[in-house]
Amino acid sequence: MTPSNFPQLFLFPHLRGQPRRNTAPSEFQAKHFPGSTVEDWADWHWQLKNRLRTVSDLERIVQLSAPEREALSRRRGHLPASITPYYASLMDPKDAGQAIRRAVIPVTAEFVRTKGEEDDPLGEDHTSPVPGLVHRYPDRVLFLTTDHCSVNCRYCTRSRVIDHGEMAPDPKRWDRAIEYIERTPTVRDVLLSGGDPLTLPDERLDYLLGRLRRIRHVEVLRIGTKSPAVLPQRVTPQLTRMLRRYHPLWMSLHFMHPAELTPEVQQACGRLADAGIPLGSQTVLLKGINDSVEVMKKLVQGLLRCRVRPYYLYQCDPITGSERFRTNVEKGLEIIQGLRGFTSGYAVPHFVVDAPAGGGKIALLPDAVLGRDGRDLVLRNYEGRLFRYPEPAEESPSTTWPLIPQPTCS
Ligand SMILES: *Cc1c(COP(=O)(O)O)cnc(C)c1O
Repeated sequence: MTPSNFPQLFLFPHLRGQPRRNTAPSEFQAKHFPGSTVEDWADWHWQLKNRLRTVSDLERIVQLSAPEREALSRRRGHLPASITPYYASLMDPKDAGQAIRRAVIPVTAEFVRTKGEEDDPLGEDHTSPVPGLVHRYPDRVLFLTTDHCSVNCRYCTRSRVIDHGEMAPDPKRWDRAIEYIERTPTVRDVLLSGGDPLTLPDERLDYLLGRLRRIRHVEVLRIGTKSPAVLPQRVTPQLTRMLRRYHPLWMSLHFMHPAELTPEVQQACGRLADAGIPLGSQTVLLKGINDSVEVMKKLVQGLLRCRVRPYYLYQCDPITGSERFRTNVEKGLEIIQGLRGFTSGYAVPHFVVDAPAGGGKIALLPDAVLGRDGRDLVLRNYEGRLFRYPEPAEESPSTTWPLIPQPTCS
């Protein structure tokens, strides 16, 4: 974002159907960061330097609830709070239950571990051939580039590594991971994650992408990041100029709620899309944040307008202290059921449960096959009506489904 066009951005027609902001970013800035300039706000380094982390930072901006205040005052042994001024401008100053606030301000419930919850529920530490590289699937690896994020999500699946130091962007650790990829020709897809790779300086990212691009068998590079949502200032023209030299490069952007889709975010996604980077979104299903068809429909439709294709909807991982965020699995199926057919197919993500203990992603779909009636399969459409599909006489009929006599079809 260039400083000169920033104030006007807020005046652009707001994304249709998206929630409005409480305050214009310029008003928020003047009130809470007096003395800072328009250029400061648009500078991602300034945003990082001025992150809100403590009770005193946050109580200047919102009315803290008792559980928020207490959780923020407990310093040791848990994921620290970290919120960019930009993302803080989306918080409701009064309502502790607001989606954006719930996602980033800790509360005391976070310190409660319930049954089945773990610090490393996906067993990533056991599927790492070298530190910070997870090789679970045959043809792709997950590269934890850094242990740092600009904004810490309270439901983070990797809170065990965030700012702990072991996954810091250390050149020696990177070398070992790159050497593993070099000697493993089955790896054709490298997914850079973390932490958030876009908290790294352009030069470091450029170096890493360059090293990986030089490996013959690596066909596709991917970056997983939440920066476009929480720090859209990060997506500078310099960054996109650098990234486009490494095609085919794909990006998975973490979005959680339609309130995140501001004009600034739309511009950041537009820049990435204009650089030819196919954009997918990953969303965690979160209780009290996005666990309804209505909110999720706004999110996925808004993402398509930002040229981002909804990719995954994740069942929330059983991370320690996550109970307040977790829905049952049926909720995810209900949401998919409420999207499929009712809106563009491009807007419908895959609903997946990442199986505890390293089982990987398991995709779930609402049941659409009711059964067989002779050679016909009986299927349910999005409106709940039944239809027959005649299977070819040459083929042996499907036997996966039970015979159901005399179904009433449309
Ligand atoms: C999610 C994930 C990937 C990427 O999976 P895709 O389905 O290809 O997006 C790779 N490795 C690990 C360990 C993962 O969790």
